[in-house]
Amino acid sequence: MEFSIERLQKPVKFIINLIFPVYCLICKKQLSYQTNTYLCDACKQKLTLINGKVCNKCGRPFINGICGICREKQFCFSKARASGIYDGSVRKCIHLLKYKKKTYLLNTLFEVFLLPSSLDFLSCDLIVPVPLHWIREYSRGFNQAELIGKKISKRFNIPLSKTSLKRTRATPSQTGLSLKERTKNIKGAFSVRNSQKLNGKRILLVDDVMTTGATVNECSRVLLQAGAREILVYTLARGV
Ligand SMILES: [Zn+2]
Ligand SMILES: [Zn+2]
Repeated sequence: MEFSIERLQKPVKFIINLIFPVYCLICKKQLSYQTNTYLCDACKQKLTLINGKVCNKCGRPFINGICGICREKQFCFSKARASGIYDGSVRKCIHLLKYKKKTYLLNTLFEVFLLPSSLDFLSCDLIVPVPLHWIREYSRGFNQAELIGKKISKRFNIPLSKTSLKRTRATPSQTGLSLKERTKNIKGAFSVRNSQKLNGKRILLVDDVMTTGATVNECSRVLLQAGAREILVYTLARGV
């Protein structure tokens, strides 16, 4: 019989899980020995997905056309979409991922989350993750936006550039600020390197969470200024 690593993977995983049981990262319930994931079925079902009607521009759940915020604020990106609502279990998962380094949770999230087809991923030329300031990335050990970007890059075979956009200024936390305050806070925080790489490209800008849209908007502004043709935004989750 031919040797195959896939044939071995199942029993090996079974034995490893017997010795080191796996628990749901949210409710701590022990998971089955065959598990391939880090959330129990009940917690997976509590992840709030965005699968109804959304604002054509910013992707927040909205019944008809363009929402009031988008009508008032002229965002620089053409379209933003997210897979889940940033509250409850989704928020917990993203916190575990970012602050407790449970980066393997991304596989579980991508199993449950749908990638919004209206974003037309295949039409994008380049994926650019929203960068962290290097001090923050160094202390965290990774940039979550880049991890998300890599998943999409692999799935749709789109190149990813992590050096084109740079966060040149560390910004204070955006939590609790209004869109106007966030816009002011983030202004001038990003700059472009290798602008020839962006020239004429349709770019998929990727981040973990979009709240007011101030951060992705500022990134979009800088990328367009550097010659990008169009910016589409994908985030794992968005606030409403
Ligand atoms: Zn659970
Ligand atoms: Zn909107």
